Amino acid sequence: MSLSSVGLYLSAVNQTVAYVLEKSTFYKRKYSNLQSLEFKNLPFTEKNELLLDQEQNPPLGSNLCVDPAKLIRIHRTSGSSGRPLFLALSKQDVDTTTEVGRDCFTSAGLTPNDVVFHCLNYCLWIGGYTDHQSLERTGATVIPFGTGNSIHLIESILHLKPTAIHCTPSYLSRLEFLLKNEFAKKPRDLGLAKGLFGGEGGLDNSTFRQSLEEKWGMSVINANYGVSDVLSMIGSECGARVGLHFIAEKYLYPELIDPATLTHMPMAQGAVGELVLTNLKKEAQPLVRFRTRDLIEIVSTDACTCGRTSFRFRVVGRTDDLIVVKGVNFFPSSIVSIVAAFLEAINGEFQVRVGQNRPIETFAILLEARTHLSAASVEATRAAIHHQIHSKLFVNPTIILVPEGSLEKSVDGKTKKVVWEESRE
Ligand SMILES: [Zn+2]
Repeated sequence: MSLSSVGLYLSAVNQTVAYVLEKSTFYKRKYSNLQSLEFKNLPFTEKNELLLDQEQNPPLGSNLCVDPAKLIRIHRTSGSSGRPLFLALSKQDVDTTTEVGRDCFTSAGLTPNDVVFHCLNYCLWIGGYTDHQSLERTGATVIPFGTGNSIHLIESILHLKPTAIHCTPSYLSRLEFLLKNEFAKKPRDLGLAKGLFGGEGGLDNSTFRQSLEEKWGMSVINANYGVSDVLSMIGSECGARVGLHFIAEKYLYPELIDPATLTHMPMAQGAVGELVLTNLKKEAQPLVRFRTRDLIEIVSTDACTCGRTSFRFRVVGRTDDLIVVKGVNFFPSSIVSIVAAFLEAINGEFQVRVGQNRPIETFAILLEARTHLSAASVEATRAAIHHQIHSKLFVNPTIILVPEGSLEKSVDGKTKKVVWEESRE
């Protein structure tokens, strides 16, 4: 970020602060006892506060800054981390949201010559209808398919011969299964050239991405990173595919903080911290210093070969999972790339177990070993994984290999990444 853009940002964030102090009962109350209203000293806005506020001030909460007659749309967050939050948008908010969404999809390579099947849920969620509008604004032809009815989707793709699909990466395995069993066809037979993805991690794993590209014969692009509380889409890869560009520079002020100490961190290459966002021009429900809980790594702050100058980042985990061990920050997701080197011996499922004693002195990582493994291989794998984690992440966990399928699963069928055990005292 150049000095001149820092100056522009300061004036823009101060305008946002002035706006919420005039229009938002929520922020008037939140800031009422502060000694200083200097931006860098303002308290963070937490998701829990917004949820509680909306419950106490139904239906849309006390942060609604416009006359309800000015609203043209209401969405809802997915509520995957608890109760859902209702998101209200004015016409101006819809325009800016879809402008940034358009720029994200354009960065990802979508053009007016493309025909794209949009396969995200249209019901309430901001990724359905709003992303549809963003796709349309690129000039591409958009087919509003939504989710479910996958047989009909394959028939429609075979008939209309689109160039692109926008969906979650995990949906591809469902389509592959149906193509094989119901159509006797392979993924490549659909003739798709561009796969635009969002909503899930996984694409940073280059082996996974390459296997998708080979199987489907299309370029696989991470096209859609968003924080729906502030803006539906804010980041996308470009053709260079070296991290997500921060596309929302005109409408969001980004900050990086250490999630353990909540102190400010410089946006420098290699920095890993929690992304904090402030809306610059939102009318209906602007947020100031909102903690996204997304842990990001700054990949580069240099100008990109595509010509964009915004910083590039990748999402490496959620800060809710942060474990501080003897003063070292440890994120369970940080072992994913390490265990990926051992997939001959283990299946990639793992679980971190932490005792209830504070401060945390030690913890265990359980990994599922493949069934064919000999006792000697189990020990060699265990020792090698321990060495890698100790030398790369500066923590010293106990590594335990357990039989395949034995780790506890949550209701959605996923292995619980972190388990906080009862105190053994
Ligand atoms: Zn680029």
